[in-house]
Amino acid sequence: MEYIMETHNLVKSYKNKTVVNSVNIHVKKGEIYGFVGPNGAGKSTVMKMLLNLTQPDSGDVYIFGEKIGSTSYECRKRIGSIIEHPYFYEKITGRKNLELHCEYMGYHNTERIDEVLKLVDLQDIEGKVVSHYSMGMKQRLAIARAILTKPEFLILDEPINALDPEGIREMRMLFRRLNQEFGITIFISSHILSEVEQIADTVGIIQNGKLLKESSMIDIRKSQTDYIELEVDDISRAGYLLEQKFGITNFKVISGTKIEIYDLQKSVKELSALLVQNGIGIASIGMKKNSLEDYFFHIIEEV
Ligand code: ADP
Repeated sequence: MEYIMETHNLVKSYKNKTVVNSVNIHVKKGEIYGFVGPNGAGKSTVMKMLLNLTQPDSGDVYIFGEKIGSTSYECRKRIGSIIEHPYFYEKITGRKNLELHCEYMGYHNTERIDEVLKLVDLQDIEGKVVSHYSMGMKQRLAIARAILTKPEFLILDEPINALDPEGIREMRMLFRRLNQEFGITIFISSHILSEVEQIADTVGIIQNGKLLKESSMIDIRKSQTDYIELEVDDISRAGYLLEQKFGITNFKVISGTKIEIYDLQKSVKELSALLVQNGIGIASIGMKKNSLEDYFFHIIEEV
């Protein structure tokens, strides 16, 4: 298997607290890898180690097959990144910021600036100074900067954090495009699982500094069960009917009105007819599939 990025037993401690504990990540060339975990799980620390911004106590990072160290300049040129809050010179325009970045990187191609501004849809406001940008615009400018030098691999730390739903949707489309159209491999961290679920090919779950699981979204989807979600006016009577009258025992009461039924011997249609016949008022009923969030909590509970 060809991995564009691998970590081997990565360890990092701060003040005797191990915040990254023997982490082994495997990112395949061409994929979008979602690195998920709650706040404080160790995601940013791992990402900083990938970019050599923080040194591991032990373990190694390999990117493009090369062991990353303080002199991996050539390797770094092939990587784009956003780590923590992207900083810009606020009093100048987005375009000027990109020009400065080109100079800093020794990359002289002004046409590329036009290309990336268009790609992130900032071409019409390129004259605006950055201090007047919205959060979403700044995030898009950060992506523009990260892809300016045509990287093969993008490392994005919580890039959709603090964006509104429209901004998140735009980012999702942009990431898909960068991945599919331009073949960029993307390693993206997020704690917004519903988003990761929509774009990732592989998901790595980290908690308390430990990588608990790496799975492909295909396998996760295969393992996800269907169930019937039911909302009723009388939960205890509905529960009684399911068990005593319809012989359905595999269900879970989720709240004062909601039940999840995993035993699918009766269809949604049959079940709603039976409940109504027995005087239960149904607010809603339908088939559901477990989400990445359910999978995530299942993995975390197993530990
Ligand atoms: P995440 O990105 O998943 O939210 P982080 O990698 O930022 O998690 O943090 C993991 C843990 O390491 C947290 O407990 C955090 O407080 C701690 N940590 C991160 N950076 C430092 C630092 N420079 N000094 C001390 N502790 C740190």
